[in-house]
Amino acid sequence: MGGLGFDASVIECPLCKDGFNHIKGTTTISGDDDYKAGWWGRGDLTVISMECESGHKWELCLGKHKGNVYMFGRKSKRTRKAKTT
Ligand SMILES: [Zn+2]
Repeated sequence: MGGLGFDASVIECPLCKDGFNHIKGTTTISGDDDYKAGWWGRGDLTVISMECESGHKWELCLGKHKGNVYMFGRKSKRTRKAKTT
């Protein structure tokens, strides 16, 4: 596989390192270029809701900040009220 400069990797749960995870949904939160998406960057945040087979709910996030896109994982905050698009 290839063509984009990187190979596929198995996603691991950031809480227990379980390699068996399920995608539960995707949401994009508008940052309005003013840090309103609930992360440290100023742009939009795309959140992929994940759940590992040990039951941890976590989020694989792609956030835009000044032309760069950052990828990170974090513990799920399912009670957060998010403006979805
Ligand atoms: Zn886990």
